[in-house]
Amino acid sequence: MARTVLVTGGNRGIGLAIAQAFAAQGDRVAVTHRGSGAPEGLFGVQCDITDSAAVDAAFTTVEAELGPVEVLVANAGITDDTLLLRMSEDQFTRVLDTNLTGSFRCAKRASSKMLRAKWGRIIFISSVVGLYGGPGQVNYAASKAGLVGMARSITRELGSRNITANVVAPGFIETDMTAVLPEATQAEYKKAIPLGRMAKPEEVAGAVTWLASDSAGYISGAVIPVDGGLGMGH
Ligand code: NDP
Repeated sequence: MARTVLVTGGNRGIGLAIAQAFAAQGDRVAVTHRGSGAPEGLFGVQCDITDSAAVDAAFTTVEAELGPVEVLVANAGITDDTLLLRMSEDQFTRVLDTNLTGSFRCAKRASSKMLRAKWGRIIFISSVVGLYGGPGQVNYAASKAGLVGMARSITRELGSRNITANVVAPGFIETDMTAVLPEATQAEYKKAIPLGRMAKPEEVAGAVTWLASDSAGYISGAVIPVDGGLGMGH
C-alpha cells in the first residue's frame, strides 16, 4: 500500500537515498530542503527544521499535495565538531537545536495526524556516535543519543495507537558530511570497520524502508545499526 512519506533533509546524502528508495516502491514522497530545491521526481518543500513555524507550514503543504504524513524520516542533521574544552555553548545548542529539537518538532507535528489515522511510522536517523560517543563530538553525540530516548518515549506513549518509532544508527557513510573529514581521520575509521569500507547512502535506505513496512509493524523503540560492524564489541 502506497504511503505518504516525508524525509527531512531529503535533498542530498542519506536523506536523498532514503527518499528515492521510498519513491521506487511507489510511495508518495516529499523531501525538505533549505533552498536548494528538490531533486527531480521528488516533491520538495522548503523548511529549516530549527523554525517551528516553518515545520508546521511544510507539513501543511505536504498534506495538501500528498495527504497526511504517514511515515516520517527525521534525517536532517549537522555536525560542528571540536573538543569539549573549546566547544562554546552556542556550538552545543545549535547542534542540539537541529538534530534533536528539530526532530522533535517534526515528530510532534507528524504524530497528531498519525494519531487520527491510527497508523504511523517515525524513524529517526541517529548515529553510532550517539550510541558510543566520539571525540570532539559532545554536542553531536548528545543530540543523537537523545533521539533514542525520544523514540522509546514515543513508543511508550503512542505504541498502542499503531504508531511505531525507531532509530537507525549509521556508521561511516559516503556523503558531504564525511567528505570534509581529514584523510587521516577517514583512514582511521576505515581501519576500525570490520567490513573494511565506508557505506553508500543507499545501504542505509534499506533499513529505513523496512522499518516503515508492514513486516516491521511489531518493531518499536529499536535501534538498528547500519555500520559495517563498527560498533560491535562496545
Ligand atoms: P549531509 O550533510 O550530506 O546532509 C545533511 C542534510 O540535512 C541536508 O539535506 C541538509 O539540508 C539537512 N539539514 C541540515 N540542517 C538543516 C536544518 N536546520 N533544517 C533542515 N534541513 C537541514 O548529511 P548526511 O546525508 O551524511 O547525514 C544525514 C543524517 O545522517 C544526519 O542526521 C547525520 O547526522 C546522520 N549520519 C550521517 C553519517 C555519515 O557518515 N554521513 C553517519 C551517521 C549519521 P541542506 O542541503 O539545506 O543543507
